[in-house]
Amino acid sequence: MESEARYEANASRVAQMRTVDIAVIGAGTAGLSARDEIAKVTDSYVVIDGGTLGTTCARVGCMPSKALIQVANDFHRRQIFAEQGILGSSGLSLDRAKALTHVRQLRDAFVRGVLESMKDWRRTKFIPKHARFKDLHTLDLGDEKIRADAIVIATGSRPLRPQAWQTFSEHVLDTDLLFEQSTLPDRMAVVGLGPAGAEIGYALARLGIEIVAISLDKAIGGLSDPELQDYAALLASREMETVFAEAEPKGPVETGFAIAAGGRIWEVDKVVLSVGRRPNLAGLGLDQLEIDLDDQGVPMHDPETLRIGDTNIYIAGDASGGRAILHEANDEGRMAGYNAVHSDNHCFRRRVPLAITFTDPQIAVVGRSWRTLRNENIDFVKGTASFDRQGRAVIMREAQGRLHIFADCASGQLLGAELIAPAGEHLAHLLSCIMAQNLGLRDAFMLPFYHPTLEESLRTALHDAMSQMSARPPAIEILRCEGPPAGDKAPTDKQGRQQQ
Ligand SMILES: Cc1cc2nc3c(=O)[nH]c(=O)nc-3n(C[C@H](O)[C@H](O)[C@H](O)COP(=O)(O)OP(=O)(O)OC[C@H]3O[C@@H](n4cnc5c(N)ncnc54)[C@H](O)[C@@H]3O)c2cc1C
Repeated sequence: MESEARYEANASRVAQMRTVDIAVIGAGTAGLSARDEIAKVTDSYVVIDGGTLGTTCARVGCMPSKALIQVANDFHRRQIFAEQGILGSSGLSLDRAKALTHVRQLRDAFVRGVLESMKDWRRTKFIPKHARFKDLHTLDLGDEKIRADAIVIATGSRPLRPQAWQTFSEHVLDTDLLFEQSTLPDRMAVVGLGPAGAEIGYALARLGIEIVAISLDKAIGGLSDPELQDYAALLASREMETVFAEAEPKGPVETGFAIAAGGRIWEVDKVVLSVGRRPNLAGLGLDQLEIDLDDQGVPMHDPETLRIGDTNIYIAGDASGGRAILHEANDEGRMAGYNAVHSDNHCFRRRVPLAITFTDPQIAVVGRSWRTLRNENIDFVKGTASFDRQGRAVIMREAQGRLHIFADCASGQLLGAELIAPAGEHLAHLLSCIMAQNLGLRDAFMLPFYHPTLEESLRTALHDAMSQMSARPPAIEILRCEGPPAGDKAPTDKQGRQQQ
């Protein structure tokens, strides 16, 4: 009798074990792009996600934040209407509740797009559960187990909420909660001015909210060049009160919430905490596996194959603790998915680093940052351009900003750039294209630059960098049909005499 019961229990356990070629944990950007690669090769896969579908980017990240920034910048623009002869702007006002509804409507449309992209396989391949490793090939989903030849971890990241802030959920928001608010109060603090915090600080200030922004240092939007950090801090201080010190929650007070920094105390209605994100790995049971974890609990993996040690487990997107940026999550998902389903663990070339912060002016870091070049002891020159009198920026009434490009002294190659510039997203893309093509300063200088555009500032910065190097700017700034570039040899006059 007893052995029969045990037999039945075993049989049901066997029935609950599903075997597939590949299991993907996480249906965010990285997990979905991993699935795309896997589905090209096999039908034997599952995608497991125990959270809310739609991706971090569409639900609480890139898209709602940009929608809010758009409203804020559109409203802010009213301040120059009168000088342009556009009258009546003093009568404009902003309904914050409606603005947030608008943001959520756009957000919902983006989320619907993601769900729509899953419809062909969702019914048969998707499992709405949390996964936890039992061993290197087995996942425990609670009431069932999945055995897979290879597994992709694409579990994303979550906002960091340090211990001191954890008890104040009524007053302290993070980026997951901000866009869910029915409206926004008049006094807010933003803690952390990294890319997400800086965007939120600017947007809330331009929605008419009194903002105190508190950040440990001036690495606003990820800038590392000290000159640009100071400049970005100056510009930010024109939009909101800025404090560079550690923020400390004091707790609720009668009419709001008290927050301290640098020896001062502010009373605000709500705080947006934006002090970084942590990979979602805690519940996966990785510490039970025979793999090495770094001090953040992220499995040691090869960044070019995304393979964890010598296992058949791959890690992609924010979960990998690398560049927490959408196009990188997408790339990593493809790399991990491809390697999970193919033999030989292919090595993939990473794109030129490109990070953009949608403040106004926008901030971008392209290629190698000033700090990276310094840490790597690379001998580089810095070419600069200012937007204070830049023609197009003046016309746009956005004449503030700086562009710093970094070029290798020996080769003249463009290695990196940092900028805070009007519509800097476009300049950042142009710079990343130049770096991806490994163009030197001179080659880049010979590209066409239309007038009047913001991109002309790059010409200025290239010229400035070249004039500090042995590879001087060419004597005449256009290419000759044949022979070496003009300026490489001392030119001769009509009588054949060499000119200096
Ligand atoms: C406010 C904000 C603004 C941003 N703006 C930009 C921007 O402008 N540009 C840009 O490039 N990037 C931006 N990002 C970053 C970008 O959104 C992320 O890098 C990207 O979305 C990460 O994708 P992912 O696939 O790694 O994770 P996610 O999309 O978060 O997917 C992870 C999934 O894993 C699931 N999961 C977690 N644990 C488990 C488990 N144990 N079992 C099963 N499922 C699990 C989760 O439910 C989730 O669905 C922003 C982020 C934020 C927060």
